[in-house]
Parts: sequence; C-alpha cells; structure tokens
Amino acid sequence: MMSAKGECSMRENSLTGNDKHSAGARKGAQILQRLRDRPPSIWYRGEQVRDVTAHPALEGGVQTLAELYDLQWRNPDVSLYKSPTTGDLVARSFMMPRTHEELHSVTKAMKVWANYAFGMMGRVPDYINRAMTGYAAGAPFLAEADPRFGENATRYYEYLRENDLCLTHTLIPPQANRAASSANQADPFLAARVKEETDAGIVVRGCRMLATLPISDEIMVFPSTLLKSPEEDAPYAFGFVIPNDTPGLRFICRESVDYGRSHFDHPLGSRFEEMDAVVVFDDVFVPWENIFLYRDIDRCNQAYARTGAVVHMTHQVLVKNIAKTEFLLGLASLLVNTIGVEVFQHIQEKLAEIWVNLETMKALLRASEADATLDEWGVMRPAWNPLDAARNLYPKLYPRMVEIIQQIGASGLVAMPTEADLKGPLVDDIKKYYQAARADAFDRIPIFRLAWDTALSAFGSRQVLYERFFFGDPVRMAGALVAGHGAEIKELAGRVQEFVKTTKDEAFSETP
Ligand SMILES: Cc1cc2nc3c(=O)[nH]c(=O)nc-3n(C[C@H](O)[C@H](O)[C@H](O)COP(=O)(O)OP(=O)(O)OC[C@H]3O[C@@H](n4cnc5c(N)ncnc54)[C@H](O)[C@@H]3O)c2cc1C
Repeated sequence: MMSAKGECSMRENSLTGNDKHSAGARKGAQILQRLRDRPPSIWYRGEQVRDVTAHPALEGGVQTLAELYDLQWRNPDVSLYKSPTTGDLVARSFMMPRTHEELHSVTKAMKVWANYAFGMMGRVPDYINRAMTGYAAGAPFLAEADPRFGENATRYYEYLRENDLCLTHTLIPPQANRAASSANQADPFLAARVKEETDAGIVVRGCRMLATLPISDEIMVFPSTLLKSPEEDAPYAFGFVIPNDTPGLRFICRESVDYGRSHFDHPLGSRFEEMDAVVVFDDVFVPWENIFLYRDIDRCNQAYARTGAVVHMTHQVLVKNIAKTEFLLGLASLLVNTIGVEVFQHIQEKLAEIWVNLETMKALLRASEADATLDEWGVMRPAWNPLDAARNLYPKLYPRMVEIIQQIGASGLVAMPTEADLKGPLVDDIKKYYQAARADAFDRIPIFRLAWDTALSAFGSRQVLYERFFFGDPVRMAGALVAGHGAEIKELAGRVQEFVKTTKDEAFSETP
C-alpha cells in the first residue's frame, strides 16, 4: 500500500503537472522566483532554510546562479539556440549536436559560464544539462528495458530544456562501510533503496552521500558505483528525477564557506559557494513517469557509457578545467608581478608548469572535438580517450597548481588585512607596510586575498577536494582506464616484447 505521504506527493512529483509552463531559456529573476516559490528542502545548522535566496550561507551562490542565467541572455548567439520543438530560444547546453560545428558551439556556450565563475562552480547547470541530453539521446537504450523509461527520458529532457530548470544530482551511497555493498551495510536502508512499489510508482528510503548545488530545482538520482549482485543490488538500482521540494526529500548541508559575505574579504567564497549536501529520502514517492532505470543492474552499470551521458558531462568538465587553469595562470602571474619575483628562475618554471597544464587541457579538448564522431544515436559525440585522459590528469594537476600559488605567495597569503582593517584606524600602517613592488597596499591586498581564497581558505580547500574526487575515486577511475584500454596496452607490450626478444636472440643466437 502506498503511504499517505506518497499519495500526496504524487501530484507534485509528476512531470506532467509541470509541463505547461515552458518558456525557453530563463533569466536570473526567474531563478530566484522559482527558488522562493518552490524552496528546495534544505537544512543548514539544524534549521530548515525557508528562503535560500536570502539565507546568509547560501545567497551568494544563489545570486551567482541567477547571474549566470542573465548572462546567457547577454550572449544569446553563443549561449542559446532555437528549440527544435517550440522554436523558443533555449540553453545551448541542451543541444544534441549533429555536426562538428554544432559540437564546438556547445563548447563555446559552456565556456561563457565557466569563465564567469573562473571554473570555481563545477556544478553550473550545464553539467547536468549535458548529462540529461546524453540520456535523452540514448533513450532507445533505456527503452529496451521498458518503453516507458525511454519515453520518460525524452519527455523529461524536453521539459527540462523548455523550462530551463537547474538540476543537482546524487550518485553514491553513504560512506559507512566501503568494504561492504549497499545491501550488506549495518542497515539495508542506509543507502537509498526501493521500499515499496505500487501501480503509481516507487517509494524510496535511505540516503545518498552527496549532491553539490542543492540550491537548484530538481535532482537526478542515478546509479554510480558498480552494482554487482542482481538479487541483492536490485533495490538500489534505479535512475529517476524529482523536484527538490518533493515531500520526504531533505538536503543536509555542510558548513558554508561564504563567511561574512564580503566580496573583498572572500572574493571567491562569497560568490561561488555552490554548497554540498547529503541527501535523505524519507519515504519519497517517485512516479513511474519520472523513472529512467529500474532494477536492471546491467543496464544501470552501462547507462552512462551507452547513452553517451558520461562523455557529454566530461566535455563540460574539461571546458571548466580550462577556465580554472586560465584563472590560476592569471592569478599566479599577478602575484609574481606584484611582489617582483619574476626574476627568479624557479618562479618562471612554476608559471611555465601552469601554462603547460593549460595547453594540455586545451589540446585534449581540441582532440576530443576533432575526433568526435556520430554515435549510435546520431549525436556528434566527443572522442572519449582525450576526455578520459583529462579527467584522470586534472585531479593531480589542480592540487599541484594550488601548491604553486602557495609557493609563490608564501607569507603574503596570511599577511592580509580585511576590508574592516582598511576602513579602520590603522589604515596608515596598512598603506605603508602592505605596499608591494608594483602595487600600493589597496591594490596589493585584493590580489592576495584572492590568492588566499584560492589556495588556503575553506573555499580553496574544498575546491582541491572537489577536483580530487567529484568525478569519482581517482584510484578506481585509473583502474577502469587500464581495464578499458587493456587491448591497446597489450598490443604495446607486445611490440616491446618483440624488441626484448630480438635483443635476447641476438645475444644468445650463437650459444652452442
Ligand atoms: C566536493 C565534492 C563534491 C561532490 N559532489 C557530488 C555530487 O554532486 N554528486 C555526487 O553524486 N557525488 C558527488 N561527490 C562524490 C564523489 O562522487 C565521490 O567523492 C567519489 O565517488 C569517491 O567516493 P567517496 O568520496 O565516497 O570515497 P570513498 O569511496 O569512501 O573512498 C574513501 C577512500 O577509500 C578508498 N577506497 C574506497 N573503496 C575503494 C575500492 N573499492 N578500491 C580502492 N580504494 C577504495 C578511496 O580510494 C579513498 O581513498 C562529490 C565529492 C566531493 C569531494
């Protein structure tokens, strides 16, 4: 029997109820209004947040989110395209590219947003827009399990595109006991699982480890960690989307890194706090029309790759990485110039290191576009190998580049007064003692505060953790890479083996 909670939520969760309001690409004011009208169920420091647009811990990130949506209307030729169904202008990150030119146009649109946040908001909405575009393209794959699932993916994608909604997503189970599967934890409902199934949908109970950008409209709840046992893991095998105000759904936030909201003191944290939250499903009802994958372990395990979703998401990630690396190179260069350390060779070497990283990322993006081919769904899919190389490399490059900022900035990263100090009685001391080779104190301090927020603050540390892990455990990603390229690596080993054999044969051919 479905619970009363389930019956009540059914109307609100259903896609069909929301379908009517399509209007194409949104503007910032609409983002804020929707978050006020339908607040995500966010908990912060033990209290439910009633209005994320006015909450001190969250409003900086929410404001930036709104600015991003305004930005797409300031660059409509780059950021938008005509919807194939309505003719309205919609976000280009929903495009299913059919040609190399269209694919490149998606890159350019994503770069506008990535630049705006210097790559520091990994979850700008185009990340999931690309995922859902991939899933919709691969709808026939989902339909093989149940025709409804394919139809749901297509319908939801169109709903998302035409309403320009913003999504978060959650994939992994809670970090309780990583040596055991979800089914073998201390409590089988620790990881979110299906509690009951009805004619109308499913009821989900349990938890998912993380969702970045809970300050969004809806959540994509998809499988991630490889499911192994068809019997045990089936209740954990699903993919669906629901609104963030669905009854029973709760986001428990970490502490904000947007302290004090001063753009001067916290230039990045006060603007780009996208927030991370644990997601609790307290008997959440999910209608069948919101479900794309269900109880089919093999299909869940294959879905990201077969539909192309993972490729399209990684494409967005690489664009973000380029924007982020450009920012780091610009910042490092500003630091160097401000305090006049460009004369030292190791400083030049460090700048060169960031430059090489940037060119490497750009080259991998270009290769992925140049080698793109039409996939089985007729979508121009970027080549996977360069993207895979980039996603395995960047978790190593980013922490190192942050280390470089620390090495260049040294104690300057902590000898750093606040906005209040600059407006206080010690301003003459500050003017004198904080001057630099090529900047007076008032110009030097904001540069160093920016470097501090990049390399030292809670915001900066969270960025490092993000880059290390957000796309998955780097160790297991490397394992998957080696497994995926087994034949290629074996072929290379064979060539080297041939050479070794020749050497050996040469040395011992005359042995009696
Ligand atoms: C800032 C941030 C934002 C994120 N945002 C999102 C989000 O929006 N949505 C989302 O779904 N996820 C998100 N993630 C989660 C991300 O997917 C995970 O961090 C990643 O998959 C690794 O899982 P884990 O953090 O649970 O680490 P764990 O799996 O718990 O690993 C902990 C340690 O144990 C090792 N380990 C564990 N199991 C194995 C194994 N089988 N083999 C070898 N080593 C193992 C790992 O290498 C690691 O060193 C985010 C993560 C971070 C840090």
